[in-house]
Amino acid sequence: MIIKKADLVAVAVKKSQYPEDEMKEIAFAGRSNVGKSSLLNLLVNRKNLARVSGSPGKTRTINFYQINDSFRIVDLPGYGYAKVSKSVTENWGDMIESYLAGRHSLLKVIQLVDIRHTPTAQDVQMYEWLKHYGLDGIVVATKADKISRNELSKNIGVIRKTLGLSAEDKVIPVSSLKRTGYDELFVELDRLLEE
Ligand code: GDP
Repeated sequence: MIIKKADLVAVAVKKSQYPEDEMKEIAFAGRSNVGKSSLLNLLVNRKNLARVSGSPGKTRTINFYQINDSFRIVDLPGYGYAKVSKSVTENWGDMIESYLAGRHSLLKVIQLVDIRHTPTAQDVQMYEWLKHYGLDGIVVATKADKISRNELSKNIGVIRKTLGLSAEDKVIPVSSLKRTGYDELFVELDRLLEE
């Protein structure tokens, strides 16, 4: 896949603001600061398409990017930022669930986790939701440049175990800093879009 065109077509906090449910969508979810904006910017080969966070947890919208006029990448709001209030956290949950539930054109949600750390309780909860809605199966482990080759397979093992992945589920290590791992991710995106 070559991304030639990427346009922000909707910024939503509720269902009525989503674009029409007629074009294939692949969403990205993860904890604030996991490196989601950096990954999306590199995917679409642009700086600052998705904002790289100076203040983590601030973006509380679902952003829809139309790619090559043929599918959409959906940037879900980051979770797990300690300084937000309980009501904001609850609102986040409602927002995510209302998107996940009954979005016909949604093919898959790619879950991002930091390769250095054991997935958090919220990562696990997010992944449980994805399983519930049948949207699970691809995990991207970010910031792969921060660990050694030896640690890589060990940490991926911990991620697999903590999220309860099955053997056919994929964990793709990427580094936005070193620009590695993207080819494998593109292969998965192509596969999803062709199905
Ligand atoms: P978001 O909150 O999930 O959108 O995360 P950002 O993309 O804003 O990144 C959070 C922080 O992690 C920023 O300081 C980034 O520069 C840094 N970061 C993101 N990706 C990588 C990576 O692959 N390697 C390293 N070393 N740092 C990264």
